[in-house]
Order: sequence, then C-alpha cells, then structure tokens
Amino acid sequence: MSEIKSKVHEYTPPVIKAEELDPKFKYKMSKMHGAEKIMACFQCGTCTADCPIARFSEFYRPRRIARMVQLGLKDRLLLDKALWLCSSCFTCVDHCPQGVEIAGIVRVLRNMAVAEKNLLPMVYKELATNLMKTGFVYEIPESRLQKRAEQGLPPLPKPNVGEVVKIFEVTGSASLLERVQTFVKVESK
Ligand code: SF4
Ligand code: SF4
Repeated sequence: MSEIKSKVHEYTPPVIKAEELDPKFKYKMSKMHGAEKIMACFQCGTCTADCPIARFSEFYRPRRIARMVQLGLKDRLLLDKALWLCSSCFTCVDHCPQGVEIAGIVRVLRNMAVAEKNLLPMVYKELATNLMKTGFVYEIPESRLQKRAEQGLPPLPKPNVGEVVKIFEVTGSASLLERVQTFVKVESK
C-alpha cells in the first residue's frame, strides 16, 4: 500500500511553456460530439477521485486531461500515450457535477491522435488488422472451432471478408493501419 502511495506522489507533470498553448483548441473541442461541455469543468476532481484507472496509475488523471484541453495543450495531449489507458467505463461521466463527458473527450482526443499524429497502441492495430483479414477481431484457432463442434454448438457465421476490406478501404482505415506508429508500453513523460 505504501509503495503505491509513494509512487502516486512522485509524478510531477512537465512545466508548461507559453508557446505550447493553443487558445482556440477548447472551442474546436467543444464542437465535437461528446466534448461539448469541456468549458463547464471547474476542476472539482470528482472524475479523478472515482476513476478506476487513476487509482492504479501514477500519471493518468481525467481532471488533468480536462484542464489541458481548456488550456489548449493539444500536442502534449495527443502525444501522451496515457490517453489510451482510459477503459471507457463512464464512471466519470456519471459522477461529474457539471455534466462533462470525460470519456467522450478522451475518445475525441484519441481520434485526433490517430489522425494527426499517426499514433496507435499495438493492440488496437492488431485487432483492426484481424478484423480486416478475417472478419473477426480475434483470429479464432482451429482447435477452438473443433471444440465448438464437439460441444454440439453450431458453426460460426462466415463473415464477408471482401465487404469488410471494402469498408476499410473506403473509410481510409486500411491506409491508416499501414502508416500508424504503434507502441506497447505507456510511461509517464
Ligand atoms: S468531475 Fe467534471 S467538473 Fe469535476 S474535474 Fe472532472 S470533469 Fe471537471
Ligand atoms: S471513462 Fe476513463 S477517465 Fe472516466 S472513469 Fe472510466 S477510465 Fe476513468
């Protein structure tokens, strides 16, 4: 217990430089679905106090994300791999007294990180690649299929992989998967 606590107090965010601030960023964000109420955040900290990820991370803090958006620290947010720690449990959305949807804000920031910084955790790339190749997010091993048959379960539906590929191509997701840089580990910066 004391080990977790001492780590929590070790992390200090880097000093903010004036040139990092984009005053228009919060207006841009407030036009995005799920992030409309970002300006209403008054930094009470309820989201961080109740966030299951913040409880075990020394640097993931939803309240800080809200403040960074308000300040316009766009690049710092989009390059922060900790953004991908959010489990989208929506506890922060349920508990925020101002109706700010942190989970929605994180989703918008992740989409920006992929589109503008070409950054994606390895696991997401693997899931999307599996989907494009097989129609399933997980490649299902032959042994698993045999087990289904042994248990008397019906065969799995056959996905139309050609149509899935077409969707990936039309939406630009296929080329995006080729160009993204992936990462595995999330560390504090
Ligand atoms: S709970 Fe809502 S108002 Fe409070 S810090 Fe979090 S986002 Fe801001
Ligand atoms: S949705 Fe994300 S930020 Fe909100 S409480 Fe859950 S893990 Fe934390």
